[in-house]
Amino acid sequence: MYDQLKDLKGQLETTLTQFSDLQTELTQVFEQNAELEIENQHLRDLLRELQRTLPEAPETTQQGLSKSRQVLEKLYEEGFHVCREFYGTRRKQDEECAFCLEVIYRDQ
Ligand SMILES: [Zn+2]
Repeated sequence: MYDQLKDLKGQLETTLTQFSDLQTELTQVFEQNAELEIENQHLRDLLRELQRTLPEAPETTQQGLSKSRQVLEKLYEEGFHVCREFYGTRRKQDEECAFCLEVIYRDQ
């Protein structure tokens, strides 16, 4: 009887540990989700702002970048990836991304 109780206690403790691990993971997922939503909103605002402020014409500027590339360049400068691989995610510590640079500056 005593051994059974001890076993049961052990099982309960294991279950409790698993439960709180799951809880921690769930919290992280929620936090990540909230972060992504904020980032997404930030990107939308920025895009809207860029579309509003960039001149409609001419299509190319002194630097020879088209308007859409200027938008990508601005996004990149704001610290976001514009490459297909990581589009919309934040560049960690503003690291350079060869994929992004390729997208913005490759020959038209
Ligand atoms: Zn990138």
